[in-house]
Amino acid sequence: MGKFNFKLSFVIVSMVMLTVLVTSSISIWFSYQSFNDMLIQPKLIMQEEYMGKVSEIAEHNVQGVKGIMKNSEKEMVADGDFKKAVNQEDILSIKVFLKKILFPLLVMLVIVFIVVWWFALKITRPLREMTKSGQEAYGVSNLKSVDVWYAEASNLKNVLLTSICDSQSKIEELTDQLKLDSLTGIPNRRSMDQVLNKLIAEKVPHAILLIDLDDFKIVNDTYGHTVGDEVLKAFAIQMEEIVQRQGSCFRYGGEEFLVVLPHTAIDDAIKVAEELRLKQAFAENPSGRPVTLSAGITVFTSYISDPNQLIAIADQALYEAKQSGRNCIRVVDASLVVN
Ligand code: GH3
Ligand code: MG
Ligand code: MG
Repeated sequence: MGKFNFKLSFVIVSMVMLTVLVTSSISIWFSYQSFNDMLIQPKLIMQEEYMGKVSEIAEHNVQGVKGIMKNSEKEMVADGDFKKAVNQEDILSIKVFLKKILFPLLVMLVIVFIVVWWFALKITRPLREMTKSGQEAYGVSNLKSVDVWYAEASNLKNVLLTSICDSQSKIEELTDQLKLDSLTGIPNRRSMDQVLNKLIAEKVPHAILLIDLDDFKIVNDTYGHTVGDEVLKAFAIQMEEIVQRQGSCFRYGGEEFLVVLPHTAIDDAIKVAEELRLKQAFAENPSGRPVTLSAGITVFTSYISDPNQLIAIADQALYEAKQSGRNCIRVVDASLVVN
């Protein structure tokens, strides 16, 4: 079939009709032959009888036993016999062939065609519906509702459902991975931007803490990058434990993290930051020596229209904390800065 894409229903109907036509033509041809043979017998008998009568008349004429048969008498005998023969020929005429054989055949073909067409549509319906469901949104639920009544379509449906579900779960997995930081497993900067954009767009009051681990370069230089990684992971776990449902934690980049606390006033944000700082300062960590943090805090004001604006203010507060000797937190009032 190559480059031609025939419809399955067309192929089924064509194949069946072709088979019916070929088999019926062959059987008609053979039955016509035997029908002819059967009818030719009486015709031959008639001819023999006719020839017998003609010879009889001729004999009578020669012998002159009962006088000469009139010409009109001969014609009558011959005429009657011929008519009989012609009548027999009538049975074999095209008209009879059309009426007795071809017409019933055509009726049969039309009926066969209708039945086969209906059946072909029934076979192709599940395939059409499966194709349609693949093109539409919510394809899986549509695909599940496709009524499959024969094994091949049922197998195809199962294969399609399995592969769609597999690819959907892979897409979900990849989408999740896209939102997570590969080292610490907490949400990454992409997710952070989404969360902050939403809060700012909806003007939801919130506080942010920008956290930076102190002298982290020294940790790497002293204990190696792998130990540095472990310190980052341990801090991420601890941070999530403290923040829990109060807000969300993100890895901003490098050894910097950001905590978003929706519906949180500055005092509560300071409390959370202080708890984080103290825990980090006294917690054991993979390097074997304390790794402290500094944090810059700010709260959203309605003048802020972009996450970068808010982060820049928190960064200003963080800079102040670093300037103040590290292992401390500082606050910058966003309304003062933006105005
Ligand atoms: P400061 O107190 O001023 O923040 O000093 P710092 O040493 O922490 O800051 P600096 O910016 O000089 O160094 C940050 C270091 O963090 C350097 C970089 O190699 C390290 N770092 C960034 N990302 C990773 C990481 O994924 N794993 C490890 N192990 N180290 C990282
Ligand atoms: Mg840094
Ligand atoms: Mg640092």
